[in-house]
Amino acid sequence: MLDRFNRKINYLRISVTDRCNLRCRYCMPDNDPLMLNHEDILRFEEIQQVVAVAASLGISKVRLTGGEPLVRKDITDLVAMIASVPGVQDLSMTTNAVLLDRFALPLKKAGLQRINVSLDTVDPEKFHDITRGGGLHKVFRGIQAAEAAGLHPIKINCVVKRGAERKDADGVAAYCHQHGLEIRYIQQMDLERGDFAVVEGGSGGDCASCNRLRLTSDGKIKPCLFSDLGYDIRELGIQHALEKALGNKPEKGSVNQQNLFHNIGG
Ligand code: SF4
Repeated sequence: MLDRFNRKINYLRISVTDRCNLRCRYCMPDNDPLMLNHEDILRFEEIQQVVAVAASLGISKVRLTGGEPLVRKDITDLVAMIASVPGVQDLSMTTNAVLLDRFALPLKKAGLQRINVSLDTVDPEKFHDITRGGGLHKVFRGIQAAEAAGLHPIKINCVVKRGAERKDADGVAAYCHQHGLEIRYIQQMDLERGDFAVVEGGSGGDCASCNRLRLTSDGKIKPCLFSDLGYDIRELGIQHALEKALGNKPEKGSVNQQNLFHNIGG
């Protein structure tokens, strides 16, 4: 499907939960944010229906995000449900990999093809500080399990601060080089201020060729990460919400004062 600016929209990013097992400083506010009520979170059947309608309209790429998707109970069942939808050619996930050693093989068997892992430093103390308590060894174990399970490619999302020294990013780059992994540099973003940039080594943030829509875990179709627009599938119906999002997709991002990163999945 094409939007008003003739951009081919074929990619749906789905946030399956707003919860996470880490508390990264640039994503989660200091005071624990308000989380969505359980009954507001989309059921697997609802997510599968959105994917089915979206695929019939031209979506062929689906990525599962969060919060942290692996904390969603029975996530491998959802992967299998989405993988079975006709028209879905590319099914991937973005994870912090803390639980990945347990899930890599079941995810692969369920139909997941590839994975992006968030990793901003290979210094265990720095990692513990950035994530407010995370264990770096678990991430390395998760990446090894993903390699062993045959999830491919494995890409590393490394968040960098604008103008800051890149010692940590260089450490991650060296780790990726050693393990044959692809690295992408994501400049730290600010939704409220509308601060973002094109992903180095990826396609995100390039509004002129933007190909994506987002589904939040409480059922809003978002035409753009840096916009307050959102269309509720439970109010409007799936087809109508998708058409409204496509029809109102902005030419470029501005600001988003409705969401936090942990409930829209970046
Ligand atoms: S800011 Fe919006 S239009 Fe630009 S790349 Fe991101 S989602 Fe697409």
